[in-house]
Amino acid sequence: MVSAPRYVDFHCHLDLYPDLENAISRCEMSRTATLAVTTTPKAFRRNMQLAKGKEFVRVALGLHPHLVEDRWNEMPLFDALLNETRYVGEIGLDAGPQFYKSLDKQTEVFTHILKLSNDHGNKILSIHSVRTASKVLDLLERHFSGGSGRAVLHWFGGTLPEAERAVELGCYFSVNRAMFRNERGRKLIRSLPMDRILTETDGPFVEDQNKPVLAGDVAYTVSLLSELFATEISNMQSKITRNFASVVSHEAS
Ligand SMILES: [Zn+2]
Repeated sequence: MVSAPRYVDFHCHLDLYPDLENAISRCEMSRTATLAVTTTPKAFRRNMQLAKGKEFVRVALGLHPHLVEDRWNEMPLFDALLNETRYVGEIGLDAGPQFYKSLDKQTEVFTHILKLSNDHGNKILSIHSVRTASKVLDLLERHFSGGSGRAVLHWFGGTLPEAERAVELGCYFSVNRAMFRNERGRKLIRSLPMDRILTETDGPFVEDQNKPVLAGDVAYTVSLLSELFATEISNMQSKITRNFASVVSHEAS
């Protein structure tokens, strides 16, 4: 990225908005460093084409755990495309009632992706972990040492000890406004080291007054974070852009 971003939206489904080009321009205009996650390998190329040459939007290659059951046969395409991006997501596990039945297949796919990303090296992952925090952390510990790569837990909903373990494993956390809606979520966020926090919209899934939150619209989340950590908004904002810079920096840790 040539100029410094003002904001960070590290997990946004730009291609699930009615107009992908428009969603990309929104992020460019607001100078929001945006990770455009994708849900199937087949969606990747179009995102890449439209984000080409953009300053603030990066495209991740993904296979969403909700779609594993129907789309696992796109995995050869995933493998073939992995060279084209440093970013991987949305990936992960979901053991919610609707997806529990595909958990074995999800685990197989997620494990494969972790191993492959680890072999390639230097990959940055955006990970879904609904009702599977411990399992996701076990698999990360086993298969993704990361090197100069990073694991970012998106909308993490684990327990406080699980969050602590994730911190020890070197994970970052991308947080969105919906996580502040209950005390449990606020407590969890408050327990995280400030230098591991990124913001995300998870748009268009997260809604504000029954309307999908706009791509890159993280200002409100920054203000909620600044309140929670009792710091100035401008301080929180620059903290997050610095965290982003350290996630994408090439230094090994
Ligand atoms: Zn998502």
